[in-house]
Amino acid sequence: MLDRLSDRLNNVVRSVSGKSRITEQNIADAVEEIKVALLEADVNLKVVRRFVSRTVREASGESVLRSVSPGQQFVKVVYDKLVEFLGDERQDLALRGPDVPSVILFAGLQGSGKTTSAAKLALRLKKEGRRPLLVAADLVRPAAVDQLQQLGERIGIPVEAIPGSKDPKAVVKAGLARAKKEQLNVVIIDTAGRMQVDEALMEEIRQVSALAKPDERILVADAMTGQNAVEVARAFHESVDLTGVILSKFDSDTRGGAALSIKTIAGTPIKFIGTGEGVEDLEPFYPERIASRILGMGDVVSLVEKAQETIGADDAERLQKKIRSATFTLEDYLEQFQRVRKMGSVQSLLEMIPGMKGNIDPDQLDMDQMKREEAIILSMTREERHNHRIIGMSRRKRIAAGSGSSVFEVGQLIKRFDKMRAMMKKVSKNKKYQSQLMAQMGH
Ligand code: GDP
Repeated sequence: MLDRLSDRLNNVVRSVSGKSRITEQNIADAVEEIKVALLEADVNLKVVRRFVSRTVREASGESVLRSVSPGQQFVKVVYDKLVEFLGDERQDLALRGPDVPSVILFAGLQGSGKTTSAAKLALRLKKEGRRPLLVAADLVRPAAVDQLQQLGERIGIPVEAIPGSKDPKAVVKAGLARAKKEQLNVVIIDTAGRMQVDEALMEEIRQVSALAKPDERILVADAMTGQNAVEVARAFHESVDLTGVILSKFDSDTRGGAALSIKTIAGTPIKFIGTGEGVEDLEPFYPERIASRILGMGDVVSLVEKAQETIGADDAERLQKKIRSATFTLEDYLEQFQRVRKMGSVQSLLEMIPGMKGNIDPDQLDMDQMKREEAIILSMTREERHNHRIIGMSRRKRIAAGSGSSVFEVGQLIKRFDKMRAMMKKVSKNKKYQSQLMAQMGH
């Protein structure tokens, strides 16, 4: 599934994500490679151009986060663009409540997987507690009615068919009447396909649509046909105002061009993907999951997301000032623990504290110890947190009792904190550190 595109993009972003500094040239080179990868994936040219210009604009406009490298931030920008072009949010079916029957109309070219997808969706809705009826109104492809009847039997869903009929509207009418009589609450209509988009096909669908007044008009498009699928979606959307697309044979699509182009070019969202020939092989389309699958850098993306949530540029600046003026207190120390918990790793804390990168072995800090230290600091008064020098023996006893630790452990924490502060001060006066800091700040 999308293996080829995934390999190409993954290589590009992997080489960029490790960089601690990014120049405009780096971005330009990476973007050029992304462009080639997208074109090779058969993404529509207009989409490629938009993708590239938005990525460049955002990558150069991003405010620099201290806690992640610019390369990692660039990966996040590419990921965000993928999500955006795949369609942003998951789009679900808009069906009515159980008392009013909903109608779903299926359209598509012959061989796109229309009949199979209609059965797959019926099964899915049945599992969600609805009572579907399949209507066999594809009277053009010779075996379509038989095929739908067989599928219906296999998945235990009734199928309305009029053997030998040449009038799709009559079949649809019979289906709607039966649904009402038997209290079936989702009517799924399989309409005729053709070898290609033509006026006769569109006219038939328009007529069936006018009769059935469907809540959903779904096009089944074959992902393997790439830009052709996109063009088909555009033509159908113009003609019958689609509410969504099922992208079939996604399991066999290594390129991804259709998935990335349909929303932008045809103007209609992908709602499901077909992932195999079996009746169970239909999945909701989640742009975020597909983007992660394509890029394969989930850890970097979530790290940047968390950093964006947890620390702004102002926080980092404030922290640096405190360190330089040696007013970094136990309270600030505690605040860092809380951040680490949000970030989920000690490594990210260390990289966030200016000058600490490469100065502390992350293995020296473990989460359990952090929890114990946090409990101790929480048992201190505000005054003690702001000036740890006042913590004498009697205070230590009180803090130890309050936090369920020993007097020795309280002493150890204060010693460690003292040492750390001294080191921070030293490091922050160091010339090498100063230039490292400037680089981190993007100067
Ligand atoms: P229709 O002419 O549009 O009704 O097409 P069919 O439903 O008969 O499907 C055409 C072929 O595509 C059949 O062999 C299906 O098994 C196959 N097919 C449909 N959907 C998928 C899918 O999501 N993945 C794969 N691998 N094959 C599919």
